[in-house]
Amino acid sequence: LKMKYNEEQAKRRKLHNQVEDAKGNIRVFCRCRPLSRAESSTGCSTVVDFDAASNGELGILNSGSIKKTFRFDRVFTPNDNQVDVFAQALPLVTSVLDGYNVCIFAYGQTGTGKTFTMEGTEGNRGVNYQTLVELFKIAKERNDSFTYDISVSVLEVYNEQIRDLLTTPSSSSKKLEIKQAAEGLHSIPGLVEEKVENIQEVWNVLLAGSSARAVGSNNVNEHNSRSHCMLCIIVKAKNLLNGECTKSKLWLVDLAGSERLAKTDAQGERLKEAQNINRSLSALGDVVSSLANKSSHIPYRNSKLTHLLQDSLGGESKTLMFVQISPSEHDLSETLSSLNFATRVRGVELGPPRKQI
Ligand code: ADP
Repeated sequence: LKMKYNEEQAKRRKLHNQVEDAKGNIRVFCRCRPLSRAESSTGCSTVVDFDAASNGELGILNSGSIKKTFRFDRVFTPNDNQVDVFAQALPLVTSVLDGYNVCIFAYGQTGTGKTFTMEGTEGNRGVNYQTLVELFKIAKERNDSFTYDISVSVLEVYNEQIRDLLTTPSSSSKKLEIKQAAEGLHSIPGLVEEKVENIQEVWNVLLAGSSARAVGSNNVNEHNSRSHCMLCIIVKAKNLLNGECTKSKLWLVDLAGSERLAKTDAQGERLKEAQNINRSLSALGDVVSSLANKSSHIPYRNSKLTHLLQDSLGGESKTLMFVQISPSEHDLSETLSSLNFATRVRGVELGPPRKQI
């Protein structure tokens, strides 16, 4: 049994190392959605070139020729499906069960597929669901040497306020704050952690969370695009062979839309929302890029979002960012802004434009 355990540990260490990136623990995947039916029917043209997508490169076209090239750890074209995408995120699931904190988030303009990538649609499930299926599957495979306790929290950050989406309506007005706990970990006193045993139970929790999200807003889509939706999976593992216990967190985050607000729109509540979104997304960019650049100071405290994610960004933890883009010429300026953000986050300088052959 001991030999089997050692073998398995070695295998796992190898897998874990494969996930390691030479630059650190931050990986950036770019995913482009297809042109929508409405865009296709109005003859809208595509400004994204995928000829070198298999090398992680993506070109932005200007009058048919490549104006700028971006490089990421992976580029997913509109032809890549949910299974193709998840296959690349899968090693992170194993890392969570091995005791590492993991954070996967989707960034981009509203309408570029953040929710499609994270949540997916019925019959076409995204990263969240596939991750949880895999988490339970691997936990079961390991049940002769480990026991796992898995629980889920669902929360939202809107206007720099944290809202627990699993509390009953009577307690929903309770303001949540982040507390520093032992060993650099954080806790959010009062946050509901729902224990789950299988994917059906998780599904029920997620449904409860998304219906709570809609409560109190007169436009659900608008509300969702202006708030960060965050799932936190907490995994407590006990190694039955040596008694060792670990606790790890997996954050799955569908960020607020990154689009800039038109100047004429900027008034009252809408302006405040936009400023808060801006603040949290740029704080996230600052944190991840300081990590990628191995800075000595990481500015976690500049927003609720980064403060919440503090113990899952940096250190031993693994971060995966999906930068979601639209292929349409109408979205070009937002697309460039997202690609520039993702490039900065990755901490790698832009390469020269790719030569046309
Ligand atoms: P966001 O969350 O960024 O606002 P959505 O996930 O709501 O964007 O996506 C906008 C629309 O585009 C949805 O109807 C979604 O189903 C569709 N969509 C996004 N990405 C893809 C994709 N890769 N393949 C097919 N449809 C997609």
